[in-house]
Amino acid sequence: MAGHAIICGGSIGGLFTAAMLRRAGWQATVLERTPVELSGRGAGIVTHDLLNALLVEAGATTRDLGVQVTHRVAFDRAGATCARRALPQTVTSWDRVHSLLRALMPEGSYRAGVTVTGYAERGDAVEVHRGDAPPLRGDLVVAADGFRSAIRAQMLPQVVPRYSGYVVWRALACESDLSQEVRRDLFGQFAMFMPTGTQIVGYPIAGAGNDLREGHRRYNFVWYVPVAQADLDDMLTDGEGVHHPVSIPPPRVRGEVIARMRALAGRSLPPQFLEILERSEPPFFTPIYDHLAPTLASGRVALAGDAACVARPHVGMGVTKAACDAAALARHLDAATVPEALAAYSAERWPEAERAHLTARRLGEMIFEAPPGGPDPDGRDNPNMDVILRSTAVVPADGTLAAQARRNSS
Ligand SMILES: Cc1cc2nc3c(=O)[nH]c(=O)nc-3n(C[C@H](O)[C@H](O)[C@H](O)COP(=O)(O)OP(=O)(O)OC[C@H]3O[C@@H](n4cnc5c(N)ncnc54)[C@H](O)[C@@H]3O)c2cc1C
Repeated sequence: MAGHAIICGGSIGGLFTAAMLRRAGWQATVLERTPVELSGRGAGIVTHDLLNALLVEAGATTRDLGVQVTHRVAFDRAGATCARRALPQTVTSWDRVHSLLRALMPEGSYRAGVTVTGYAERGDAVEVHRGDAPPLRGDLVVAADGFRSAIRAQMLPQVVPRYSGYVVWRALACESDLSQEVRRDLFGQFAMFMPTGTQIVGYPIAGAGNDLREGHRRYNFVWYVPVAQADLDDMLTDGEGVHHPVSIPPPRVRGEVIARMRALAGRSLPPQFLEILERSEPPFFTPIYDHLAPTLASGRVALAGDAACVARPHVGMGVTKAACDAAALARHLDAATVPEALAAYSAERWPEAERAHLTARRLGEMIFEAPPGGPDPDGRDNPNMDVILRSTAVVPADGTLAAQARRNSS
Protein backbone atom coordinates (compact mmCIF):
# COMPACT_ATOMS: atom_id res chain seq x y z
CA MET A 1 0.00 0.00 0.00
CA ALA A 2 1.33 3.50 -0.80
CA GLY A 3 -0.29 6.89 -0.82
CA HIS A 4 0.06 10.46 0.37
CA ALA A 5 0.60 11.29 4.04
CA ILE A 6 0.04 14.77 5.41
CA ILE A 7 2.23 15.40 8.42
CA CYS A 8 1.31 18.25 10.75
CA GLY A 9 4.41 19.69 12.41
CA GLY A 10 7.91 20.03 10.95
CA SER A 11 10.03 19.53 14.03
CA ILE A 12 12.02 16.39 14.72
CA GLY A 13 8.96 14.11 14.99
CA GLY A 14 7.42 15.35 11.73
CA LEU A 15 10.68 15.16 9.79
CA PHE A 16 11.45 11.65 11.06
CA THR A 17 7.97 10.55 10.02
CA ALA A 18 8.33 12.08 6.56
CA ALA A 19 11.70 10.38 6.02
CA MET A 20 10.50 6.96 7.17
CA LEU A 21 7.28 7.10 5.15
CA ARG A 22 9.14 8.15 2.01
CA ARG A 23 11.41 5.16 2.42
CA ALA A 24 8.28 3.00 2.61
CA GLY A 25 7.22 4.36 -0.78
CA TRP A 26 4.81 7.05 0.41
CA GLN A 27 4.63 10.67 -0.59
CA ALA A 28 4.89 12.87 2.52
CA THR A 29 3.98 16.56 2.84
CA VAL A 30 4.96 18.37 6.04
CA LEU A 31 2.96 21.40 7.21
CA GLU A 32 4.77 23.57 9.76
CA ARG A 33 3.17 26.66 11.26
CA THR A 34 6.48 28.47 11.91
CA PRO A 35 7.23 30.60 8.85
CA VAL A 36 11.02 30.56 9.31
CA GLU A 37 13.43 27.65 9.74
CA LEU A 38 13.12 26.13 13.22
CA SER A 39 15.84 26.47 15.84
CA GLY A 40 16.30 24.59 19.09
CA ARG A 41 18.07 27.48 20.84
CA GLY A 42 21.00 25.11 21.40
CA ALA A 43 19.01 22.65 23.48
CA GLY A 44 21.03 19.52 24.16
CA ILE A 45 19.86 16.04 23.23
CA VAL A 46 21.29 12.83 24.62
CA THR A 47 21.48 10.14 21.95
CA HIS A 48 21.05 6.39 22.29
CA ASP A 49 22.11 3.50 20.02
CA LEU A 50 18.46 3.20 19.04
CA LEU A 51 18.36 6.81 17.83
CA ASN A 52 21.59 6.43 15.87
CA ALA A 53 20.25 3.31 14.14
CA LEU A 54 17.01 5.10 13.23
CA LEU A 55 18.85 8.14 11.87
CA VAL A 56 20.72 5.78 9.54
CA GLU A 57 17.47 4.00 8.63
CA ALA A 58 15.92 7.38 7.80
CA GLY A 59 18.80 8.07 5.41
CA ALA A 60 20.79 10.54 7.57
CA THR A 61 24.42 10.38 8.54
CA THR A 62 25.57 9.95 12.14
CA ARG A 63 29.09 11.19 11.37
CA ASP A 64 30.09 14.02 13.74
CA LEU A 65 26.77 13.62 15.51
CA GLY A 66 27.97 15.08 18.79
CA VAL A 67 30.41 15.06 21.69
CA GLN A 68 31.46 11.80 23.35
CA VAL A 69 31.20 11.58 27.11
CA THR A 70 32.59 8.61 28.98
CA HIS A 71 31.32 8.99 32.56
CA ARG A 72 28.58 10.31 34.74
CA VAL A 73 29.43 12.25 37.85
CA ALA A 74 27.45 13.85 40.63
CA PHE A 75 28.83 16.96 42.34
CA ASP A 76 28.00 18.12 45.82
CA ARG A 77 27.26 21.76 46.58
CA ALA A 78 30.93 22.50 47.24
CA GLY A 79 31.77 21.14 43.78
CA ALA A 80 33.42 17.89 44.89
CA THR A 81 32.64 14.66 43.04
CA CYS A 82 30.45 12.47 45.23
CA ALA A 83 29.56 9.71 42.74
CA ARG A 84 30.93 8.50 39.43
CA ARG A 85 30.11 5.70 37.01
CA ALA A 86 31.18 4.80 33.47
CA LEU A 87 28.46 5.39 30.87
CA PRO A 88 29.69 6.30 27.39
CA GLN A 89 27.19 8.32 25.32
CA THR A 90 27.08 10.78 22.45
CA VAL A 91 25.48 14.07 23.36
CA THR A 92 24.31 16.35 20.60
CA SER A 93 21.96 19.24 20.04
CA TRP A 94 18.40 19.63 18.83
CA ASP A 95 19.69 21.76 15.95
CA ARG A 96 22.07 19.06 14.77
CA VAL A 97 19.41 16.32 14.67
CA HIS A 98 16.89 18.67 13.11
CA SER A 99 19.25 19.83 10.36
CA LEU A 100 20.20 16.23 9.46
CA LEU A 101 16.52 15.38 8.96
CA ARG A 102 15.59 18.70 7.32
CA ALA A 103 18.24 18.05 4.64
CA LEU A 104 16.38 14.87 3.66
CA MET A 105 13.18 16.74 2.68
CA PRO A 106 12.72 17.01 -1.09
CA GLU A 107 12.04 20.45 -2.52
CA GLY A 108 8.40 21.46 -2.08
CA SER A 109 7.52 18.78 0.48
CA TYR A 110 8.04 21.04 3.53
CA ARG A 111 5.57 23.90 3.72
CA ALA A 112 6.43 26.54 6.31
CA GLY A 113 3.95 29.06 7.70
CA VAL A 114 0.96 26.67 7.46
CA THR A 115 -1.14 26.30 10.63
CA VAL A 116 -3.32 23.21 10.79
CA THR A 117 -6.67 23.84 12.45
CA GLY A 118 -8.37 20.41 12.24
CA TYR A 119 -9.27 17.50 10.01
CA ALA A 120 -12.24 15.59 8.58
CA GLU A 121 -12.35 11.97 7.44
CA ARG A 122 -14.07 11.56 4.07
CA GLY A 123 -14.49 7.86 3.17
CA ASP A 124 -11.13 6.60 1.97
CA ALA A 125 -9.40 9.97 2.39
CA VAL A 126 -8.81 12.56 5.07
CA GLU A 127 -8.78 16.34 4.77
CA VAL A 128 -6.54 18.64 6.74
CA HIS A 129 -7.92 22.09 7.48
CA ARG A 130 -5.75 25.19 7.38
CA GLY A 131 -7.98 28.04 8.54
CA ASP A 132 -9.49 29.79 5.52
CA ALA A 133 -7.22 28.07 2.97
CA PRO A 134 -8.68 25.15 1.00
CA PRO A 135 -8.23 21.80 2.79
CA LEU A 136 -5.47 19.41 1.75
CA ARG A 137 -6.47 15.81 0.98
CA GLY A 138 -4.40 12.75 1.79
CA ASP A 139 -4.67 9.05 2.59
CA LEU A 140 -3.54 9.55 6.15
CA VAL A 141 -2.67 12.32 8.58
CA VAL A 142 0.08 12.22 11.17
CA ALA A 143 -0.13 14.65 14.08
CA ALA A 144 3.47 15.58 14.87
CA ASP A 145 2.41 18.99 16.11
CA GLY A 146 3.77 18.71 19.62
CA PHE A 147 2.27 18.45 23.09
CA ARG A 148 -0.44 21.06 22.40
CA SER A 149 -1.46 19.25 19.19
CA ALA A 150 -4.48 20.72 17.39
CA ILE A 151 -5.16 17.35 15.77
CA ARG A 152 -5.13 15.55 19.12
CA ALA A 153 -7.37 18.25 20.63
CA GLN A 154 -9.99 17.32 18.01
CA MET A 155 -9.45 13.54 18.26
CA LEU A 156 -9.15 13.30 22.05
CA PRO A 157 -10.35 16.57 23.64
CA GLN A 158 -10.18 15.02 27.10
CA VAL A 159 -6.35 14.79 26.94
CA VAL A 160 -4.91 17.88 28.62
CA PRO A 161 -1.18 18.13 29.36
CA ARG A 162 -0.52 18.33 33.10
CA TYR A 163 1.92 20.78 34.71
CA SER A 164 4.53 18.83 36.69
CA GLY A 165 5.05 21.48 39.41
CA TYR A 166 8.53 22.40 38.18
CA VAL A 167 10.21 24.32 35.39
CA VAL A 168 13.52 23.83 33.69
CA TRP A 169 15.97 26.70 33.38
CA ARG A 170 18.38 26.19 30.51
CA ALA A 171 21.76 27.80 30.04
CA LEU A 172 24.38 27.44 27.34
CA ALA A 173 27.96 28.67 27.75
CA CYS A 174 30.82 28.73 25.23
CA GLU A 175 33.79 26.58 26.26
CA SER A 176 36.19 29.41 25.50
CA ASP A 177 34.43 31.66 28.05
CA LEU A 178 34.95 29.19 30.92
CA SER A 179 37.80 28.82 33.41
CA GLN A 180 40.33 26.00 33.06
CA GLU A 181 38.98 24.33 36.21
CA VAL A 182 35.40 24.25 34.97
CA ARG A 183 36.45 22.99 31.56
CA ARG A 184 38.41 20.21 33.23
CA ASP A 185 35.53 19.27 35.54
CA LEU A 186 32.67 19.48 33.07
CA PHE A 187 33.74 18.66 29.53
CA GLY A 188 34.15 14.95 28.81
CA GLN A 189 31.49 13.83 31.22
CA PHE A 190 27.80 14.00 31.94
CA ALA A 191 27.38 15.82 35.24
CA MET A 192 24.61 16.10 37.78
CA PHE A 193 23.76 17.81 41.07
CA MET A 194 20.91 16.26 43.02
CA PRO A 195 20.11 17.78 46.40
CA THR A 196 16.57 17.43 47.75
CA GLY A 197 14.08 19.52 45.79
CA THR A 198 16.05 20.48 42.71
CA GLN A 199 18.32 18.89 40.11
CA ILE A 200 20.87 19.82 37.47
CA VAL A 201 21.88 17.79 34.44
CA GLY A 202 24.68 19.12 32.24
CA TYR A 203 26.84 18.01 29.35
CA PRO A 204 28.98 19.43 26.54
CA ILE A 205 27.55 19.88 23.05
CA ALA A 206 29.01 21.09 19.76
CA GLY A 207 29.72 24.78 19.28
CA ALA A 208 28.11 26.95 16.61
CA GLY A 209 28.16 25.31 13.16
CA ASN A 210 28.51 21.85 14.78
CA ASP A 211 32.08 22.65 15.82
CA LEU A 212 33.29 19.65 17.86
CA ARG A 213 36.86 20.88 18.41
CA GLU A 214 38.13 21.28 21.94
CA GLY A 215 37.87 24.91 22.98
CA HIS A 216 35.01 25.55 20.53
CA ARG A 217 32.26 23.50 22.15
CA ARG A 218 29.46 24.70 24.41
CA TYR A 219 28.11 23.49 27.72
CA ASN A 220 24.42 22.84 28.10
CA PHE A 221 22.76 22.61 31.45
CA VAL A 222 19.21 22.10 32.55
CA TRP A 223 18.16 23.00 36.05
CA TYR A 224 14.84 21.68 37.38
CA VAL A 225 13.31 24.13 39.85
CA PRO A 226 9.95 23.65 41.62
CA VAL A 227 7.48 26.49 40.95
CA ALA A 228 3.92 26.56 42.32
CA GLN A 229 1.16 27.19 39.76
CA ALA A 230 0.46 30.76 41.05
CA ASP A 231 4.16 31.64 40.82
CA LEU A 232 4.34 30.09 37.37
CA ASP A 233 1.51 32.35 36.22
CA ASP A 234 3.56 35.31 37.45
CA MET A 235 6.73 34.08 35.70
CA LEU A 236 4.77 33.68 32.46
CA THR A 237 3.58 37.29 32.62
CA ASP A 238 5.76 39.74 30.71
CA GLY A 239 6.71 43.32 31.58
CA GLU A 240 3.60 44.67 29.82
CA GLY A 241 1.30 42.48 31.90
CA VAL A 242 0.60 40.01 29.05
CA HIS A 243 0.24 36.45 30.30
CA HIS A 244 1.71 33.74 28.02
CA PRO A 245 -0.32 30.66 28.89
CA VAL A 246 2.12 27.84 28.04
CA SER A 247 5.63 29.22 27.68
CA ILE A 248 7.05 32.70 27.38
CA PRO A 249 9.50 33.81 24.66
CA PRO A 250 12.91 34.27 26.37
CA PRO A 251 13.22 38.02 25.62
CA ARG A 252 9.85 38.63 27.33
CA VAL A 253 10.87 37.11 30.69
CA ARG A 254 10.89 39.96 33.27
CA GLY A 255 14.24 40.99 34.73
CA GLU A 256 13.07 40.34 38.27
CA VAL A 257 12.25 36.71 37.37
CA ILE A 258 15.81 36.23 36.13
CA ALA A 259 17.17 38.06 39.18
CA ARG A 260 15.26 35.74 41.55
CA MET A 261 16.59 32.70 39.70
CA ARG A 262 20.16 34.03 39.90
CA ALA A 263 19.81 34.71 43.63
CA LEU A 264 18.58 31.14 44.18
CA ALA A 265 21.48 29.82 42.09
CA GLY A 266 23.97 31.82 44.14
CA ARG A 267 22.64 30.27 47.35
CA SER A 268 22.37 26.69 46.19
CA LEU A 269 24.49 25.59 43.20
CA PRO A 270 27.98 24.06 43.00
CA PRO A 271 30.58 26.55 41.72
CA GLN A 272 31.02 24.80 38.37
CA PHE A 273 27.34 25.18 37.47
CA LEU A 274 27.21 28.69 38.89
CA GLU A 275 30.01 29.69 36.54
CA ILE A 276 28.13 28.21 33.57
CA LEU A 277 25.09 30.25 34.51
CA GLU A 278 27.07 33.44 35.01
CA ARG A 279 28.92 33.13 31.71
CA SER A 280 26.08 31.79 29.56
CA GLU A 281 23.89 33.41 26.98
CA PRO A 282 20.70 34.66 28.70
CA PRO A 283 19.13 31.64 30.44
CA PHE A 284 15.50 30.83 29.68
CA PHE A 285 12.88 28.61 31.28
CA THR A 286 10.26 26.12 30.14
CA PRO A 287 7.50 24.72 32.38
CA ILE A 288 7.51 20.91 32.33
CA TYR A 289 4.22 19.33 31.26
CA ASP A 290 3.43 15.75 30.36
CA HIS A 291 0.56 13.69 29.01
CA LEU A 292 -0.18 10.28 27.53
CA ALA A 293 -2.96 9.89 24.94
CA PRO A 294 -5.08 6.74 25.54
CA THR A 295 -4.63 5.69 21.90
CA LEU A 296 -2.26 6.78 19.15
CA ALA A 297 -4.69 6.32 16.26
CA SER A 298 -8.25 6.86 15.12
CA GLY A 299 -9.33 5.94 11.60
CA ARG A 300 -6.87 7.55 9.20
CA VAL A 301 -5.21 9.80 11.78
CA ALA A 302 -2.14 8.88 13.86
CA LEU A 303 -0.50 10.70 16.75
CA ALA A 304 3.32 10.69 16.94
CA GLY A 305 6.10 12.17 19.05
CA ASP A 306 5.08 14.69 21.70
CA ALA A 307 1.54 14.90 20.26
CA ALA A 308 1.08 11.26 21.30
CA CYS A 309 2.89 11.36 24.63
CA VAL A 310 5.32 13.55 26.51
CA ALA A 311 7.82 11.76 28.68
CA ARG A 312 9.43 14.45 30.84
CA PRO A 313 13.02 15.20 29.85
CA HIS A 314 14.53 13.07 32.67
CA VAL A 315 14.51 10.03 30.38
CA GLY A 316 15.92 12.00 27.43
CA MET A 317 13.60 10.02 25.17
CA GLY A 318 11.57 12.64 23.30
CA VAL A 319 13.58 12.52 20.09
CA THR A 320 14.21 8.77 20.22
CA LYS A 321 10.56 8.07 20.95
CA ALA A 322 9.50 10.21 17.98
CA ALA A 323 11.97 8.31 15.78
CA CYS A 324 10.61 4.95 16.98
CA ASP A 325 7.04 6.15 16.29
CA ALA A 326 8.04 7.08 12.74
CA ALA A 327 9.75 3.74 12.07
CA ALA A 328 6.83 1.72 13.46
CA LEU A 329 4.27 3.71 11.48
CA ALA A 330 6.16 3.14 8.22
CA ARG A 331 6.48 -0.58 8.96
CA HIS A 332 2.77 -1.05 9.65
CA LEU A 333 1.74 0.62 6.40
CA ASP A 334 2.11 -2.86 4.87
CA ALA A 335 -1.34 -3.66 6.26
CA ALA A 336 -4.35 -4.01 3.96
CA THR A 337 -5.94 -0.67 4.91
CA VAL A 338 -4.77 2.58 6.49
CA PRO A 339 -7.06 2.26 9.55
CA GLU A 340 -5.74 -1.30 10.15
CA ALA A 341 -2.16 -0.10 9.80
CA LEU A 342 -2.70 2.76 12.24
CA ALA A 343 -4.45 0.52 14.77
CA ALA A 344 -1.46 -1.87 14.65
CA TYR A 345 0.90 1.10 15.02
CA SER A 346 -0.95 2.27 18.12
CA ALA A 347 -0.98 -1.22 19.64
CA GLU A 348 2.79 -1.49 19.19
CA ARG A 349 3.80 2.00 20.31
CA TRP A 350 1.40 2.80 23.16
CA PRO A 351 3.03 0.46 25.73
CA GLU A 352 6.46 1.92 24.91
CA ALA A 353 5.14 5.46 25.23
CA GLU A 354 3.57 4.59 28.57
CA ARG A 355 6.83 3.11 29.85
CA ALA A 356 8.84 6.21 28.93
CA HIS A 357 6.13 8.50 30.33
CA LEU A 358 5.92 6.70 33.69
CA THR A 359 9.69 6.18 34.01
CA ALA A 360 10.18 9.91 33.52
CA ARG A 361 7.49 10.68 36.11
CA ARG A 362 9.23 8.42 38.61
CA LEU A 363 12.56 10.13 37.97
CA GLY A 364 10.77 13.46 38.44
CA GLU A 365 9.35 12.32 41.81
CA MET A 366 12.87 11.43 42.94
CA ILE A 367 13.89 15.08 42.76
CA PHE A 368 11.79 15.66 45.87
CA GLU A 369 12.59 12.53 47.91
CA ALA A 370 14.75 13.28 50.95
CA PRO A 371 17.05 10.91 52.84
CA PRO A 372 15.72 9.60 56.20
CA GLY A 373 17.54 12.34 58.14
CA GLY A 374 15.68 15.16 56.34
CA PRO A 375 16.34 17.34 53.27
CA ASP A 376 19.85 17.19 51.83
CA PRO A 377 20.80 20.62 50.38
CA ASP A 378 24.37 19.46 49.68
CA GLY A 379 23.45 16.70 47.23
CA ARG A 380 25.66 14.08 48.89
CA ASP A 381 23.00 11.84 50.40
CA ASN A 382 20.32 11.56 47.76
CA PRO A 383 18.61 8.24 48.57
CA ASN A 384 18.13 7.55 44.84
CA MET A 385 21.54 8.74 43.63
CA ASP A 386 22.55 5.48 42.01
CA VAL A 387 19.20 4.97 40.25
CA ILE A 388 19.19 8.56 39.01
CA LEU A 389 22.75 8.27 37.68
CA ARG A 390 21.93 5.00 35.94
CA SER A 391 18.50 5.86 34.57
CA THR A 392 18.60 9.54 33.56
CA ALA A 393 18.63 10.01 29.77
CA VAL A 394 18.81 6.27 29.17
CA VAL A 395 16.27 4.18 27.23
CA PRO A 396 14.17 2.53 30.00
CA ALA A 397 15.52 -1.04 30.04
CA ASP A 398 12.70 -2.53 32.04
CA GLY A 399 9.45 -1.49 33.67
CA THR A 400 10.72 -1.13 37.25
CA LEU A 401 10.53 2.66 37.55
CA ALA A 402 7.32 2.76 35.50
CA ALA A 403 5.72 0.25 37.90
CA GLN A 404 6.79 2.40 40.87
CA ALA A 405 5.21 5.48 39.28
CA ARG A 406 2.00 3.57 38.61
CA ARG A 407 1.90 2.41 42.24
CA ASN A 408 2.58 5.89 43.58
CA SER A 409 -0.23 7.42 41.54
CA SER A 410 -2.84 4.82 42.51
C1 LIG B 1 14.70 20.65 28.55
C2 LIG B 1 14.42 19.57 27.58
C3 LIG B 1 15.41 18.62 27.35
C4 LIG B 1 15.16 17.57 26.48
N1 LIG B 1 16.16 16.66 26.29
C5 LIG B 1 15.95 15.64 25.45
C6 LIG B 1 16.98 14.66 25.24
O1 LIG B 1 18.06 14.69 25.82
N2 LIG B 1 16.74 13.67 24.35
C7 LIG B 1 15.54 13.60 23.68
O2 LIG B 1 15.35 12.68 22.87
N3 LIG B 1 14.54 14.51 23.87
C8 LIG B 1 14.72 15.53 24.73
N4 LIG B 1 13.72 16.44 24.91
C9 LIG B 1 12.42 16.27 24.23
C10 LIG B 1 12.44 16.60 22.74
O3 LIG B 1 12.93 17.89 22.52
C11 LIG B 1 11.01 16.49 22.19
O4 LIG B 1 10.39 15.36 22.73
C12 LIG B 1 11.04 16.32 20.69
O5 LIG B 1 11.58 17.44 20.07
C13 LIG B 1 9.58 16.07 20.18
O6 LIG B 1 9.43 16.44 18.94
P1 LIG B 1 8.00 16.60 18.22
O7 LIG B 1 8.36 16.82 16.80
O8 LIG B 1 7.09 15.50 18.54
O9 LIG B 1 7.30 17.90 18.85
P2 LIG B 1 7.78 19.43 18.84
O10 LIG B 1 9.26 19.50 18.85
O11 LIG B 1 7.02 20.10 19.90
O12 LIG B 1 7.30 19.98 17.43
C14 LIG B 1 5.98 20.25 17.07
C15 LIG B 1 6.02 21.10 15.81
O13 LIG B 1 4.70 21.29 15.34
C16 LIG B 1 4.51 22.64 15.00
N5 LIG B 1 3.09 22.92 15.18
C17 LIG B 1 2.40 23.01 16.35
N6 LIG B 1 1.11 23.23 16.13
C18 LIG B 1 0.95 23.28 14.79
C19 LIG B 1 -0.17 23.46 13.94
N7 LIG B 1 -1.38 23.65 14.43
N8 LIG B 1 0.03 23.45 12.60
C20 LIG B 1 1.26 23.25 12.07
N9 LIG B 1 2.37 23.07 12.83
C21 LIG B 1 2.21 23.07 14.17
C22 LIG B 1 5.39 23.41 15.97
O14 LIG B 1 5.70 24.70 15.49
C23 LIG B 1 6.60 22.49 16.05
O15 LIG B 1 7.54 22.77 15.05
C24 LIG B 1 13.91 17.48 25.78
C25 LIG B 1 12.93 18.45 25.98
C26 LIG B 1 13.16 19.48 26.89
C27 LIG B 1 12.08 20.51 27.09
